Amino acid sequence: MSDYRPIQERLQDFQPVELPLVDEVLAWELTRCQDCGVPFCHNVGCPLANAIPEINAAALGGQWDKALALLIATNPFPEFTSRVCPALCEGSCVQGLNEESVPERRIEFQVIERGFAADLLISRPPKRWLNLTAAVIGSGPAGLAAAWALNRLGVQVTVYEKAARPGGFMRYGIPDFKLPKTILDRRVVLMKQDGIIFECGVEVGVDISVRLLRRRHKILILAIGARCQRDLALPGRNLAGVLFATNYLAAQNQLIGGEISDLPAEFNAQGRRVIVLGGGDTGSDCVGTALRQGATAVSQFDILPRPPEARDNDNPWPQWPRILRTSSSQEEGGLRCWNIDTVEFLPAAHNPVVLGTLVGRKVTWDTSGSSFRPVPISGSEFHEEVDLVLLALGFTGVAYGPLLAGLDLQPDLRGLLSTQSGMEGRLAPGLYAVGDAVSGPSLVVRAIASGLVTARTVQVDYGLETI
Ligand SMILES: Cc1cc2nc3c(=O)[nH]c(=O)nc-3n(C[C@H](O)[C@H](O)[C@H](O)COP(=O)(O)OP(=O)(O)OC[C@H]3O[C@@H](n4cnc5c(N)ncnc54)[C@H](O)[C@@H]3O)c2cc1C
Repeated sequence: MSDYRPIQERLQDFQPVELPLVDEVLAWELTRCQDCGVPFCHNVGCPLANAIPEINAAALGGQWDKALALLIATNPFPEFTSRVCPALCEGSCVQGLNEESVPERRIEFQVIERGFAADLLISRPPKRWLNLTAAVIGSGPAGLAAAWALNRLGVQVTVYEKAARPGGFMRYGIPDFKLPKTILDRRVVLMKQDGIIFECGVEVGVDISVRLLRRRHKILILAIGARCQRDLALPGRNLAGVLFATNYLAAQNQLIGGEISDLPAEFNAQGRRVIVLGGGDTGSDCVGTALRQGATAVSQFDILPRPPEARDNDNPWPQWPRILRTSSSQEEGGLRCWNIDTVEFLPAAHNPVVLGTLVGRKVTWDTSGSSFRPVPISGSEFHEEVDLVLLALGFTGVAYGPLLAGLDLQPDLRGLLSTQSGMEGRLAPGLYAVGDAVSGPSLVVRAIASGLVTARTVQVDYGLETI
């Protein structure tokens, strides 16, 4: 359940689309929490194991500072998750069996934003510093969480980030209308006050050697994401106008963040017909961005079948419901099509190096036995005139480069970093990996959880006291 600003209003800007719960609704929703004896929201749904029933009970009793203390005991960055989390907890809420789940993500928003408004979120540097330094490489949610947790233990942490500003995909992927970057900056200020050093614009392995980093820091944590983009090796892929979605979204985010003063023409959808290939979060963010830039038409093509409206029998509660969802961006306009495969891109009649047409075809799905593969439907080919195609097809793993080469690390068969201990993040003595780099492309909440768990592994490995 969400309330958004009116479509015509929100399409004029990149401000957050979601409205906070009004007080009466909030009070009503808090009473709907059943305080279950076995709270599935907490132990099946939330990767951070947030104490959801207890948080709700405290908020219902007006004890917002207690609710905040409970929330930040397990989640260092609720201001991120309360804006972008798909709310896995809500998928396993007992109320969701028969009606709407308790809107926990929006309750979390109230808890954290009331905390910030009351100045309760202040810098808390460690009581004492250890003679132990750690380098966190990458400043997405996984790196930030690991840095935050190690700092709490008194470890001297430096975060190295190759982009100009910290945040990973939270800054350069997710648009402001979901997560304003001021929210990210507010947290980074606190982390700096806590004593964490941020070295941005530094690509480890290129701008600083792995050997030097090893000399400077006893502990290395790789939080480099899974950023190798899935491409389409099709005729016409190199035509101007066929772009990776993440590059397109990054440019708009840089513009809003003031890193660039003009949007390069290739990343501007104004007056253009746009097709987004891919039906996930990234694709949906492209739809919202293209509509705001003034695209004349936007379509989103997904090769996968249309999800069911309600849970299938093989997807029972309390599992995450694999059902059709409509994002705020998809609600704003554009056409969504499923079971569509792309065959080739053709140049425009007036210019042979510029995109003019997408050739697609419909597919059906072979689900016999254990197979799940698309089968083209003969005679279903179609031609669609288009000026801009955005490839939002996911990622194939970590980007192999000088950093991994310098550490003598190879991605595994999944294209990811295999840790000796799964989620605990250990790669080798003094070397750890967290977030999407280990799990594959996932979610902000899982990246945060991974950073925290790995910081605990470091704590055990180095026998660090909790201070
Ligand atoms: C467009 C988009 C929308 C999304 N929307 C959502 C959403 O709504 N909700 C949700 O939960 N999740 C969403 N996700 C997924 C989520 O953003 C990721 O799962 C999460 O950011 C992964 O965190 P991470 O810290 O592992 O990696 P990343 O966020 O990818 O950060 C990795 C960082 O490492 C840096 N780096 C890499 N190599 C080096 C090096 N050698 N030296 C220095 N720095 C380096 C990179 O520059 C980057 O900043 C979205 C992802 C995308 C792309």
